[in-house]
Formats: sequence, structure tokens, C-alpha cells
Amino acid sequence: MIDITLLGTGSPMPDPHRAGPSTLVQAGDENYLIDAGRGVLMRLAAAGCTPTMLNAVLLTHLHSDHITDLNDVITSSWALNVDEPKVLRIVGPEGTKETVSRILHFLELDIGYRIAHHDDLHKPPQVEVTEITRGTLDLSSAVRISAAPTDHKPVDPTVAFRFDYQGNSAVVAGDTIPCADLDQLCSGAQALVHTAIRKDIVEQLPNQRIQDILNYHSSVEEAADTAERAGMDTLILTHYVPAIPPKENEFHELVVQQWLDKAAEKFSGKVEIGDDLLKVTIK
Ligand SMILES: [Zn+2]
Ligand SMILES: [Zn+2]
Repeated sequence: MIDITLLGTGSPMPDPHRAGPSTLVQAGDENYLIDAGRGVLMRLAAAGCTPTMLNAVLLTHLHSDHITDLNDVITSSWALNVDEPKVLRIVGPEGTKETVSRILHFLELDIGYRIAHHDDLHKPPQVEVTEITRGTLDLSSAVRISAAPTDHKPVDPTVAFRFDYQGNSAVVAGDTIPCADLDQLCSGAQALVHTAIRKDIVEQLPNQRIQDILNYHSSVEEAADTAERAGMDTLILTHYVPAIPPKENEFHELVVQQWLDKAAEKFSGKVEIGDDLLKVTIK
């Protein structure tokens, strides 16, 4: 059994109802955070998980909306850990080491204040970064995690992660257009978490900055087609652009139905769309 919780279903646009992109994957007693968008630790707390419980943080790519709260994950998993100092594993594409090192630099004064103030805090955050684009991760974990490159150019490299645990399997793709490597990673897996945008709406918006997102994201139909080609059972869409109105909004059901209909044009399995903290169990 693998539990997938959409911690944040938002996009770069600040949204009072949707945190930034991040997903929690739980299997056995292991917890994996994929991406660390705006507000991630608030949603992680709502999901009943603390940063000190994370086995690893996996980054699909280094776009700011996917990593903006990584500094909070690093600080909180360090300063809130009252037991033995724990190493925070961070995994991501090439560039992750430099990004984490710069975040630690940005946190340098705060780290100094806390070490000076707390007698039982002697060391700065212990962070171990692994850069990977393709292959299987060696985390000594019960969950087998593998990676494959995706296509979100000019952001390059970018990765998707596959989780295999006791016969169940799920893939979490970040921002990408359809590509052969993602197809291969998805092959034989049960569920796909995929970011998606409504290209039919975005292309109508009279703003070049917004239209620029069209060529490096998948539409709902393209994400659905990727899941269909791999013969998957479940497609979980996230990172909604434009944002889907929240449940209390009168247009919520209508818009969700539009997204579901678009996905159903290409995918014959079950499609999950929801607000932050939507939890889907794969079994
Ligand atoms: Zn994004
Ligand atoms: Zn991106």
C-alpha cells in the first residue's frame, strides 16, 4: 500500500486556498516529501507528519515554486529535532548541491543564533545531497525509489521519481511535457501524480508571460495520455493552472468536472483531482 497526499496543489500564483507544489508519499513507516513549495510544512503538519519524520526530500526540479520552502524544511528538521542529530537526505537533479549549499549560506546567521542559544545544539543542519537524473537511489530504504529525466526545458535536468513498495508502485512527475523517459518510468506502475495546466484556457489569456508556460508543461489531456500509454490505473492531477476554485466556491464542481472530462478524453482509468490534502491510497 502506498499513500499519496497532495500537500500543495497550487502553482507560482499565490492562492489563499492552495499551497505551492509538494506531495507526500508514505509506504510502510517511510515518508517522502516530493518538492517543497509555498506552505509545505503547514500542510505536512495537517497530514500528521513532521519534518523530522521525513526519510528524504526529493526535488523534481529547481524552479522556485517547487523549492521555495526548502529552507523551512531544513531549519525545522534540524531545530525541532530534540533527539540525536539526524541527517536530512535531499535528492534532486544536478544543481541541487549548489542550491542547498546556498540555502545553508542564507541560513547562516540563524544557525549561529540557535547554536549559541541552545546548549544541546552543537552542530549546524546535517544535510546530505544526492544528485540523480536516472537510475535507482541507494537510500537503504524499504521503498525502492528510481528516477528518470523529464522534459521541462530550458529547466534542465528535471526528474520524475518512481516508488515501488511490496508490489505497489507510483510515479511522481514534476513539470514536464510528454517524453519517452517518463513513459518508461511509468511503465507497469499503478499511479501517476502529474502537474497539469489547462492549455485551452491559458492560450486565450492576453499575456505573453503566461502564454510562455504553454510549451514546457503538459495539458490535462497530455498528462492523461502519458498515464494511458503506461496502462496505469490512477492519474492524480496537481499544480492546477488556472487554479480550480475551492470547494466552497459555486463553480468548484463545474470546473472539476471540466478537468475530469478533459482527462477522460485520453485516459480510461480513475482520475483524482482535489484540494490540498487530497489523499489517495494505491493498493
Ligand atoms: Zn511548477
Ligand atoms: Zn517548473
